[in-house]
Amino acid sequence: MGNENRELHIIFFPFLANGHIIPCVDLARVFAARGIRATIVTTHLNVPYISRTIGKANINIRTIKFPSTEDSGLPEGCENTESALAPDKFIKFMKATLLLRDPLEHVLQEEQPHCLVADMFFPWATDSAAKFGIPRIVFHGLGYFPLCVLACTRQYKPQDKVSSYTEPFVVPNLPGEITLTKMQLPQLPQHDKVFTQLLEESNESELKSFGVIVNSFYELEPVYADHYRNELGRRAWHLGPVSLCSRDTEEKSRRGREAAIDENECLKWLQSKEPNSVVYVCFGSMMVFSDAQLKEIAMGLEASGKPFIWVVKKGGAKSEGEKLEWLPEGFEERMGESNKGLIIRGWAPQVMILDHGAVGGFVTHCGWNSTLEGVCAGVPMVTWPMYGEQFYNANFLTDIVKIGVGVGVQTWIGMGGGEPVKKEVIEKAVRRIMVGQEAEEMRNRAKDLSQMAKRAVDEGGSSHNDFNSLIEDLRSPAH
Ligand code: UDP
Repeated sequence: MGNENRELHIIFFPFLANGHIIPCVDLARVFAARGIRATIVTTHLNVPYISRTIGKANINIRTIKFPSTEDSGLPEGCENTESALAPDKFIKFMKATLLLRDPLEHVLQEEQPHCLVADMFFPWATDSAAKFGIPRIVFHGLGYFPLCVLACTRQYKPQDKVSSYTEPFVVPNLPGEITLTKMQLPQLPQHDKVFTQLLEESNESELKSFGVIVNSFYELEPVYADHYRNELGRRAWHLGPVSLCSRDTEEKSRRGREAAIDENECLKWLQSKEPNSVVYVCFGSMMVFSDAQLKEIAMGLEASGKPFIWVVKKGGAKSEGEKLEWLPEGFEERMGESNKGLIIRGWAPQVMILDHGAVGGFVTHCGWNSTLEGVCAGVPMVTWPMYGEQFYNANFLTDIVKIGVGVGVQTWIGMGGGEPVKKEVIEKAVRRIMVGQEAEEMRNRAKDLSQMAKRAVDEGGSSHNDFNSLIEDLRSPAH
């Protein structure tokens, strides 16, 4: 398509959370690589992460001002959900994002783009785009399966027909007899209606929008791709996995924040290990565990006997000689001597690590980005969902594509609490994805999916072709 695409200009407006920014910037990179002019709109303090992820791609950034402390009630410097995790701050944060409407419209006025791709958490964006006579496309950063579960539970409300939080129900009008409990559905903050209302509005604005860009590829979930489009009647294009736009080690290591480990040191450590021998443990960009849970993880990993890289989002970088109270006695010394474990405190270059041949398994919280990045890396996963749509994604990995083993968590734990998962359970789950015939079979399936993912984004692949359809639809005078 190349040159004839050059005249199209698309504005991308990611929600201000790492798990939303990263795939949205990757998406903009997919468009830029296909010759489309792409501009990302964000607030000042999010620019450094976005610039890092953009790397050498030809993408502009337009900055808008985040609401002031007086208007938002948030402390200075709070422009990303990672600094607004406490429930009261989070609600204020969501309210503050409503005030981004005017600044965004100002940019639309000046830039006169042909289309606005905005995150699901900006429901007002459909009307903003309409004001300028352009289509609005919704980007959740999710795959078809979680989108189908969300749509069917919203429409048929099976959760209202059970008598307890633990009584299982089958999601109606969804292929595959998917069973959930009410405990696994989003538990919204009760004390404030803002979030509930936002989700309602998000759904309405999606139905009025031009369509949805899905971060997935057809071969991963053909049944749900067809169901979402044909049965649920949504207009959608799958352009993923968008993380595959990072091709070399440098690009893979530059996604999101600056890594808390020197990339070369990390690669050197990985290179000292056997192929498929290392388990990578990371719970997304936000999850901070209790000390008790961290201790169980440490003991479980050690007992599994497998080398590991473990990403811990607690405290800052470790200072010389500092003792980590949450680790079992002598753990660091033992891991240091045996060179068995690498703990990264802070941000890890996740895709770079996962794609290294030494990595053979992934313990994940099942955020959709991590889920798909694990699929692309071709590794079996231990599923440990916690909140959001993660229980659906976990279900997808264990029951549908069958490349995952659960740790048995049954309930949404919000951002921190819950009974710790015990070391024996962690050890057993890690062994199941790393050694033996079951692990081998899962690894083979995962490797096949990884190949399919790469073919999907290459010329002639399903995501590459859906990109062409989207461009055609955008050019069609009908809209
Ligand atoms: N990520 C990373 N390093 C980290 C933590 C997360 O690169 O230390 C990236 C990860 O590769 C993924 C995103 O951040 O692209 C997290 O998105 P996901 O949907 O998995 O989880 P969330 O953070 O939204 O819960």
